[in-house]
Amino acid sequence: MGRPLVAILTGAGISTDSGIPDFRGPRGVWTLHPEHEKLSTIGYYMTDPEVRRRSWQMRRETYAADPQPNAAHRAIAELDAAGPVALRVITQNTDGLHQRAGLPARKVLELHGTSRSVVCTACGARSSIADAFARIGAGEPDPPCLACGGILKTATVMFGENLDPAVLSEAASIARACTVFFAVGTSLQVYPAAGLVDLAADGGARLVIVNAEPTPYDAVADEVVREPIGAALPRLLRELRPDPGG
Ligand code: ZN
Repeated sequence: MGRPLVAILTGAGISTDSGIPDFRGPRGVWTLHPEHEKLSTIGYYMTDPEVRRRSWQMRRETYAADPQPNAAHRAIAELDAAGPVALRVITQNTDGLHQRAGLPARKVLELHGTSRSVVCTACGARSSIADAFARIGAGEPDPPCLACGGILKTATVMFGENLDPAVLSEAASIARACTVFFAVGTSLQVYPAAGLVDLAADGGARLVIVNAEPTPYDAVADEVVREPIGAALPRLLRELRPDPGG
């Protein structure tokens, strides 16, 4: 018998304790300031230099705040390091905090890409976000690609862009094959998150939902936990570890 495969789907709710705002929640950035959504919409971004300048500025402020992994991110990385299960994280977040908590990058599937890298929309060249912010700080508010002069953007999936089919397909395989599927800090109201829960449930996985608000899948879940994620997830994941006493 191999180790059981545990899939953990994470959304914005896992990173709010790290100071990263939720966008769609009741107090989310886009709920309170709908015009901010433009800054992450590819059509506006590609055609309006002012949108790009403001988008970079917004991301630079988040980056400068230097958000750190919290207890929930750490608990996932620690479970993986302890080794009782084969673990994969499927995340809707672009903050890179699972990896910064120590989880190997190959075990993290980023459905919406990463805000830690920059990609050229013309030639596809990738570069580091630190370099982009350094150029912005030095007086280039909308820095062009150094290789071809094209428009740069963070390597995130903006509104109006498609998810990477390879990432999506791997996420679906994991959902189908896992023994336990955790959905943490995600409302499960949008594709592809909701579809992954369906696949996991169809495959017979135990479904555990950890979220402050009700989700459409609560009725089919084996366990629904409404406590704060930073306290609840470490406790739930400890239950997957062998008893240190025996
Ligand atoms: Zn380029």
